[in-house]
Amino acid sequence: MPEVVVVGAGVGGLAAAIHVAASGHDVTVVERLDHVGGKLDHRSAAGFTWETGPSLLTLPDVFRGLAGVAGHDLDDLVDLVRLDPICRYRFADGTGFDHRADAVDAAAAVEALSPGAGPKFDDFLDRARTVWEVSERTFFAGAMTSPLRLLRRMRSPRDLADIDPLRSLHARAAATFDDSRLVQWADRYATYSGSSPYDAPATLGCIPHLEQHLGAWYVRGGLARLADALARIAADLGVEVRTRCDVDRITHAGDGVTGVRLADGEHLAADAVIANADALHLYRDLLPHRRARRRAERAPRSSSGFVLLLGIEGATAGLAHHNISFSGDYRAEFDALFDVHDPIADPTVYVAASSVTDPSQAPAGHENWFVLVNAPSFDDPAEEAARYAGYGDHVLEVMAERGWDLAGRIVHRDEIRPVDIADRFRTPGGSIYGTSSNGAMAAFLRPGNRGPVDGLYLCGGSSHPGGGLPLVAMSGRIAADLCTQDLA
Ligand SMILES: Cc1cc2nc3c(=O)[nH]c(=O)nc-3n(C[C@H](O)[C@H](O)[C@H](O)COP(=O)(O)OP(=O)(O)OC[C@H]3O[C@@H](n4cnc5c(N)ncnc54)[C@H](O)[C@@H]3O)c2cc1C
Repeated sequence: MPEVVVVGAGVGGLAAAIHVAASGHDVTVVERLDHVGGKLDHRSAAGFTWETGPSLLTLPDVFRGLAGVAGHDLDDLVDLVRLDPICRYRFADGTGFDHRADAVDAAAAVEALSPGAGPKFDDFLDRARTVWEVSERTFFAGAMTSPLRLLRRMRSPRDLADIDPLRSLHARAAATFDDSRLVQWADRYATYSGSSPYDAPATLGCIPHLEQHLGAWYVRGGLARLADALARIAADLGVEVRTRCDVDRITHAGDGVTGVRLADGEHLAADAVIANADALHLYRDLLPHRRARRRAERAPRSSSGFVLLLGIEGATAGLAHHNISFSGDYRAEFDALFDVHDPIADPTVYVAASSVTDPSQAPAGHENWFVLVNAPSFDDPAEEAARYAGYGDHVLEVMAERGWDLAGRIVHRDEIRPVDIADRFRTPGGSIYGTSSNGAMAAFLRPGNRGPVDGLYLCGGSSHPGGGLPLVAMSGRIAADLCTQDLA
């Protein structure tokens, strides 16, 4: 059977490997780090464990389906915990609400926050469900090369109206809610793909449906356990995973790939290569290709992130597993992110403390705070390195002003800056999701799953359908389908 090499053991790469191996091909995954999972990772120190990438899992059925391809039951491999509340929101005026897992409870909490808004919240979620149902059988169904391809998958013009691609998420939110706090709540879903609500299409309004009706999930022991489970499934299918293997070229002869060359000079011959590395790294370094590179450069990059990993002594009153403290001026935040490209002065702060759900993640009497604020992606690494000096202290001051005064309680502190994300994962600009959804055409500017050379396929956050755990797993399936069809 033909040999397929996957470059990168991120979630997209592991998903692709599982699908290709399940159809009977020999698969080797080469990963430059010493472990699998890519951005789905964790860090441990002083008895604490923090997620360093994803802290929230949506659409676990995508992973159940992936495990099922190999005859596994995902729930035998990982302990999935449905969270309630989904998230505790606090607004700049000091008010807030718990987004409860039960839809009736959630609407009641919204109604208590803003009398009259409960039915609007229900309406927003109903529309979110419709958008998802249409998107799932059209946009997410396979490779996407042009708007025409999307239109061909639609059953009627009604489908197009339902996904609402020409209006921004913010416009949709503002048309639904009179209360600016709930507009800000709805706008936040643009950040689930590292995008701006003012530029991303209203289609992203499907995400609250995923959280509300299909659940917001944690993996007991930390989300990185999911990567271990995928690696185990791949191993059972005979996939060879080689870590500490840096690919420096995808080799080709004429119009077809011939394999990959590793940094130590070893050549792995292959009939097909699936690149899970970022598309910009791919077309700049691994298989230099001017046209494909230019195209990849035109796709809008997602935002990056600035992270504090904190070990906190004592218990914090009112802390949930997922917490958001919104800034007072969301527009200024996204201007800083995508127009001015500056660290955000007054950021919305996200705190995930998995020890609230899973005490194994912190020593007794302590909490593990993963603090994330949005940060712009960057062009110049040399300039970037200095930009975040003192920013961690600034974020802690902002948090203190908003009621999270951690003075005297921090027993461990670590930072992850955009430049660290870029270096570690070879993700240009430190973009945490690869490409963003900014602009009505963003979905079609994103590099496709088929490369410009025969036998080359792409998966992962920088290619269709974009970033986030379930989406990169879908991209792995789409790339694997193209690959196995061509090999047949
Ligand atoms: C801080 C942060 C928070 C996030 N929060 C969430 C969240 O809550 N929920 C969610 O769903 N998603 C979240 N995400 C996004 C999610 O982590 C990513 O979309 C997803 O994990 C990316 O998977 P991928 O398949 O694109 O591969 P990546 O994770 O980008 O992995 C690519 C792999 O390729 C390897 N590689 C690159 N170049 C080479 C080479 N030349 N040779 C060999 N190997 C190479 C890299 O080392 C890496 O392991 C977050 C990300 C970050 C960073």
